[in-house]
Amino acid sequence: MTSDPTPDTIVRLTNTLWVKRSQAMAYNCGAVISAGRAALIDPGLGRAGVAMLADLLAAEGATLERIIITHSHWDHILGPELLPPAPILAHAAFGQSLAADQAYTLKAIARWEASQGAARGAPFVPPTPDELVEDGHELALGDLTLHLVHVPGHAADQVAIYEPASAVLWAADILSDLEIPFVSHSLAAYEAALQRLARLEIRALAPGHGVPTTDPAEIARRIAEDRAYLAELRARVQAVVDAGGTIAQAVAACATMPFKHPEQNEFQHQLNAESAFIELGGAADPARFGWAREGLADE
Ligand SMILES: [Zn+2]
Repeated sequence: MTSDPTPDTIVRLTNTLWVKRSQAMAYNCGAVISAGRAALIDPGLGRAGVAMLADLLAAEGATLERIIITHSHWDHILGPELLPPAPILAHAAFGQSLAADQAYTLKAIARWEASQGAARGAPFVPPTPDELVEDGHELALGDLTLHLVHVPGHAADQVAIYEPASAVLWAADILSDLEIPFVSHSLAAYEAALQRLARLEIRALAPGHGVPTTDPAEIARRIAEDRAYLAELRARVQAVVDAGGTIAQAVAACATMPFKHPEQNEFQHQLNAESAFIELGGAADPARFGWAREGLADE
């Protein structure tokens, strides 16, 4: 493999959480360290970035105890093969979610690695979790207890990680400042997940993509903004479904909606409208429209 074209950086967000930030896709992975014990969250992207995490653990004198994979999407599963063996923890739906998206996942990884000049000879083999957990699972790590919170909606198997003593939330692929909600699993589940997270005290927030923050106003704003986006998406699409309209009319009805960074989220917003139309009872072929449509990895 060649070296990564863009450098990564590590920021210490709290006493016990470090965030490694990639310029590529504004991708974040986490290192939680307490009393000489470490858990890595979604290690990746790229060989050099993963090596930085290993160096961090060495510098902190910490032993890698767990690798937590927040969900089965391609960009979150690339790290374990580059790390020393450690038990991998994921949600119980990980295998099923991965299998459902397998063709897309392998294609997306091949395309990403080719773009990085790091194409591999054989197809990527996804990691196999050693420990499958349900909502509410508690993981002891040094002096900390990490709470695994099932937050489906973007992915059926997605978990957030909440550490109550310092009120830190690792949000996985939600609550980004750059991305709108990518509703690639279920609108209803996404709404319920945000409703749950809104009840937590959160003093530090790290999203899977975007800027981590400890600003209470910014944390509250992200939660409110994403909930408002989903409510508006639902209202506009439901109105079209109730009127017996088409999926094209649902997309058109959502085209005038305000949402953040339209220059980079326009396509995902359209996919959201299409998937919501199908979820809310509109008639359309999921093989041709929405997040589950065929050929998405080629677009
Ligand atoms: Zn994802």
